[in-house]
Amino acid sequence: MYSSATSDLIAWLQGHETEMIRLLEQAVNLDSGSRYKAGVDRVADLFQEHLDAAGIRTRRHRRDAHGDCVLGEVPGLDDAQEGHVLLLGHMDTVFPEGTARARPFRAEGGTAYGPGVADMKAGLVMNTFIARAFAELGGNRLPIRVLYTGDEEIASPSSREFTMDTARGARAVFNAEPGRPTGNVVSGRKGAFFIDFEVDGVAAHAGVNHDKGASAIEALARKIIALHALTDRQSGVTANVGTLRGGMSVNTVADHAMAQLDVRFPAEVDRDRLHARIVEIIEGEALPCTCGRITHLANFLPFGASESGRQLLAAYQAQARTLGFEVEGEYTGGSADSGLTASVGAPTLCATGPVGGEVHTDREYCRIDTLVPRAQAVALTLMEPPRRAR
Ligand SMILES: [Zn+2]
Repeated sequence: MYSSATSDLIAWLQGHETEMIRLLEQAVNLDSGSRYKAGVDRVADLFQEHLDAAGIRTRRHRRDAHGDCVLGEVPGLDDAQEGHVLLLGHMDTVFPEGTARARPFRAEGGTAYGPGVADMKAGLVMNTFIARAFAELGGNRLPIRVLYTGDEEIASPSSREFTMDTARGARAVFNAEPGRPTGNVVSGRKGAFFIDFEVDGVAAHAGVNHDKGASAIEALARKIIALHALTDRQSGVTANVGTLRGGMSVNTVADHAMAQLDVRFPAEVDRDRLHARIVEIIEGEALPCTCGRITHLANFLPFGASESGRQLLAAYQAQARTLGFEVEGEYTGGSADSGLTASVGAPTLCATGPVGGEVHTDREYCRIDTLVPRAQAVALTLMEPPRRAR
């Protein structure tokens, strides 16, 4: 049996499903690729105005290079309580400007489609309505912070410090990345390095004076083989050069080549040593008279297993069960901001958002019937998060 406050909360969220879908449609129809600041800021406006209209205090954190962050807060009712809870999500998507016009939000037979619908505009909508539910029903014992960031898909260069600061001291963090297609949440993620690098060589005519050249392409090829050899299924490290370019013409020894590398690693791997090895390969002289350098590096922190994370998962599972659904915690190689919040010691649960899949593709979908139950499960869990071990 639920207390009347709890039943009110469950009923309030159930009663706002149509409004949630409407806000989701508005958010999906705004392009917000990570590099399109004006678009991300428009999504920030949408959610900030929505919270303001609901009487929730918000602050805007301006960012120059990437989308702004928005932070809303519903004050806590119990001063004796330490800490707060954080509802987290990112507003940026991987899709370029024009995508929303080409394939706008569409709902068909209980499934919603559109760029970023699952990853993670549905999660943002869910977090927004959880905050609203508590604000309108008289509050929560712990303060509820709801944070919207603008550059997660490119490893959060402008928002990471702010996310970590906002998570510090939290009793629970719920990152509303899409629930797995199985309905599961995520209790562990790999960290990642995204690295752009270039190789210089010496140009020469490939027929007339081949011996005067030093091929940047051959040097790059050797580096790729060495980098891919970092892959180690046992420890969970994977390395992949996903793009490459180089050379000028078929009959010229290439004096330039470039590539992009993605390396993933679990929390147990020594990140600094792995990084040092990558730098050694890229900067080392793979061929005489060639040299390599890193031009851009982005990194995600791993989200490793912790006792407080396990307790939060168990609390969430118990609430989901009372609502009538079962969830497990999954481990995934995909990286996210949950690594940042876990790194400051905040008990974190990831992929608490509505269930979806095929993210980062034009087949991306979100199951509309999961908006309300997933919101209810987070709302019930944050009322009484597990006590922190001292
Ligand atoms: Zn995401």
